[in-house]
Amino acid sequence: MADNNAQEPFRVLIAGAGIGGLATAVALSRISGIPNLDIQLYEQADELLEIGASIALSPNGMRTLEKLGVTNAFDDDAGFRGTSGIPQIIRHWKSNQVVSVDTYTSVSDPRHHTTRFHRGHIHAALLKHVPSSNIHLGKKTVGAKSDADGVTLFFEDGTKARGHVLIGADGIKSKVRQAFVPEHKLKYSGKTFARATFDASILEGKVPDLPEDAIHWWGLNDHFFASKLGKGQFTTVGSFDDPRSTEEIDKAVAWNQADDVSWFKEKYKNWNPTVKALSELTPYIRLYPNYVGDALPSWVISDRATLVGDAAHTHGGSFAAGGSLALDDSLALALAFKHVISPQISSPGPIGASAIKQAIQLYDSVRRPHTTRLLEVVHGQFKAKKPVYSSDEDAEKSLQTKVKGRPDTNWLSEHDVEETFFRVIGQSKKTPSERARL
Ligand SMILES: Cc1cc2nc3c(=O)[nH]c(=O)nc-3n(C[C@H](O)[C@H](O)[C@H](O)COP(=O)(O)OP(=O)(O)OC[C@H]3O[C@@H](n4cnc5c(N)ncnc54)[C@H](O)[C@@H]3O)c2cc1C
Repeated sequence: MADNNAQEPFRVLIAGAGIGGLATAVALSRISGIPNLDIQLYEQADELLEIGASIALSPNGMRTLEKLGVTNAFDDDAGFRGTSGIPQIIRHWKSNQVVSVDTYTSVSDPRHHTTRFHRGHIHAALLKHVPSSNIHLGKKTVGAKSDADGVTLFFEDGTKARGHVLIGADGIKSKVRQAFVPEHKLKYSGKTFARATFDASILEGKVPDLPEDAIHWWGLNDHFFASKLGKGQFTTVGSFDDPRSTEEIDKAVAWNQADDVSWFKEKYKNWNPTVKALSELTPYIRLYPNYVGDALPSWVISDRATLVGDAAHTHGGSFAAGGSLALDDSLALALAFKHVISPQISSPGPIGASAIKQAIQLYDSVRRPHTTRLLEVVHGQFKAKKPVYSSDEDAEKSLQTKVKGRPDTNWLSEHDVEETFFRVIGQSKKTPSERARL
């Protein structure tokens, strides 16, 4: 495939049609300004079902959704925003007392407050903005290569696709990343999440002191989370330590695997009455072992290929940041292409290999330092030794220290990706309307 000319489509291949892949398709088509753009997405699933449990989008993700024009995600019943205007409330596992809260520092629009969705609902909201004819289902990527003229994706069914640029949006176990950075390995973090989503009506009148807002209950090692979601749904999530090795977990627990709910009820039976009732009413659980990997040294994985979302930053479920980070990645990538090709807009010509590489390098400079910082925090937490308690009093003190010492994550949840982009290109003083004209 030679460099495209103005008449020929500029083909972008996206591996994976999750939140990151779909958002990248929307961002490139609406923001990049690439002429004659032809985006093709290749998804391993045979059907785009509403799988997964809850997903939280923090203010950075909500702002980006708006910039991408995915305004249907703001419909009143699509997601759930807490009633108190507090982004995170932490309560004690036994006493049920509030032990810590986060506050917003730079979120003036309440529509950008942290919103909790069923993952399937936010996925469906994005799908409305991508033509279904451009999404190829049952196309599991097994390999990828890049050469001077283009990129090729190889699928499990023996077929392949050719394009000018490749975006790996195929999640934390990315095959695109593996093809270009085979030395990168994932490690089981020692934590597994047990999750469920169900109709909120099954809780009616049955849970003492059921809070209106989303609540994290912190125990000594285990946690419990509960929240309303959009469209009348509710979620419960338990996170617990599992001492098995990465190899053992790989063999024993698949992502999204159904498990016996009885041990879940047993685990939380001595917690406060609200959590006890919520765990007893949880109708089923599915398991999500949490994997993490080191920060990549570069997202310019070839002159024509890069990564977005969990494929690019393997932080696992930490700080519930994955969805919002994927959205910000997509916007940064589109802005990078726009910046690089905008000098050509008045006399459109071929988008050559050097322009593609320049755009990917700019994207890397905007996003990788931010997510590397996150990975440093995440790895620091997992390296910390598990405490051994000599008494209940000792355990209680340790929990209080943990709550007090928890990292401030406003830099993550309120990050302004556009501002970072303009700082990196040296235009930090531009006003939003000046930026829009760029
Ligand atoms: C099924 C599923 C359920 C999830 N549930 C939750 C949840 O309940 N809560 C939560 O916080 N986060 C969940 N996540 C993760 C969360 O969606 C991501 O952290 C976040 O949205 C970033 O999105 P992403 O697009 O980078 O990755 P993902 O959301 O993982 O999307 C990756 C996409 O690529 C596809 N894919 C993977 N491998 C290949 C391949 N080899 N070839 C082609 N396609 C491939 C996947 O099927 C998926 O559609 C879930 C992810 C998945 C895939």
